[in-house]
Amino acid sequence: MKKHNFGAGPCVLPQEVFKRAAAAILNFNDLDLSLLEISHRSADFVAVMKKAQHLVRALLGVPEGYHILFLQGGASLQFTMAPYNLMRVGGRAAYLDTGSWSSKAIREAELLGQVEVAASSKDRNYSYIPKAYRMPSDVDYLHFTSNNTIFGTQFKAFPQAEVPVACDMSSDIFSREIRVSDFDLIYAGAQKNTGPAGTTLIIVKEGILGKTGRKIPTYLDYQTHIDRDSLFNTPPVFSVYASMLTLQWLKENGGVGWIEGINAEKAALLYDEIDRNPLFEGLAARADRSTMNATFVLKDKSRAKTFDDMWRAAGIHGLKGHRSVGGYRASLYNALSIESVQTLVNVMGELETKG
Ligand SMILES: *Cc1c(COP(=O)(O)O)cnc(C)c1O
Repeated sequence: MKKHNFGAGPCVLPQEVFKRAAAAILNFNDLDLSLLEISHRSADFVAVMKKAQHLVRALLGVPEGYHILFLQGGASLQFTMAPYNLMRVGGRAAYLDTGSWSSKAIREAELLGQVEVAASSKDRNYSYIPKAYRMPSDVDYLHFTSNNTIFGTQFKAFPQAEVPVACDMSSDIFSREIRVSDFDLIYAGAQKNTGPAGTTLIIVKEGILGKTGRKIPTYLDYQTHIDRDSLFNTPPVFSVYASMLTLQWLKENGGVGWIEGINAEKAALLYDEIDRNPLFEGLAARADRSTMNATFVLKDKSRAKTFDDMWRAAGIHGLKGHRSVGGYRASLYNALSIESVQTLVNVMGELETKG
């Protein structure tokens, strides 16, 4: 039987996506050729790229004037590309520091200019989202991370700024409705809610580019990819194709509004058990709890071996917390079923009755 995969990324994707992606590797579009051996400039693959872009536009309601790209290098390369494209020579940017990924983004931006950390939750090991802080207006852009995958916190309301807003949405894009027009740059490594590792989704507003006075290496310049419709160089064809299938699955089932409701149910089911069960304790501030990554600990560490044996025996996979946090992390991405969450909740309840 398929395991209940609570892994943080790469992570569970819809089973039918795995099946269709596997079939396309053997025989794509009845061409008697593999998806992996045809030209990325063939009509068959160009149609895949266009369809993937179209699905992103439809699912998120991306307005005119925004470009949709599928690039390589992961969200980690976007930590570099964002400042390259948005920070003026001798410029300054504001960053919110809400976790490991934010910190990594800050480190890359500091290589190109000045970074003002407008707010940080580092003082309490990133267990909350900072709320009262002064947003600088004399900066080239603001950057933040919408969902902190490692610590299990999530922005419920997005920060407002007078300057262009760049957001790393790797671990919660397509999990809830957003208004794309509130952002100027959105990026997300695919391997959480979008598809398999290997591609990064970028949504970029046209008017914000070309203003830095900076020479940008060709690949790192968003304009390069916009001009070639995301086919500047060989794209990660499998990752784009399987992402397209995942987005199609989401759209056919009811879209982002549909999954947002299910994600809220899954998160409520698990957090209710974390709060009810006296053996467990949540790590993130309640108001800031992520619907995608729930972090929690056993109050009595001596029960860990018993609990670990129990959830493994129940077919649960990938529950261990990140090494910088410890404890447990249950990732509740779009394709994880409510039955999987119920299985975990049942095991937590059984641990309590074991006395
Ligand atoms: C996973 C993750 C990243 C890193 O993504 P890569 O594609 O591995 O570079 C960055 N930011 C967030 C919020 C993540 O969850």
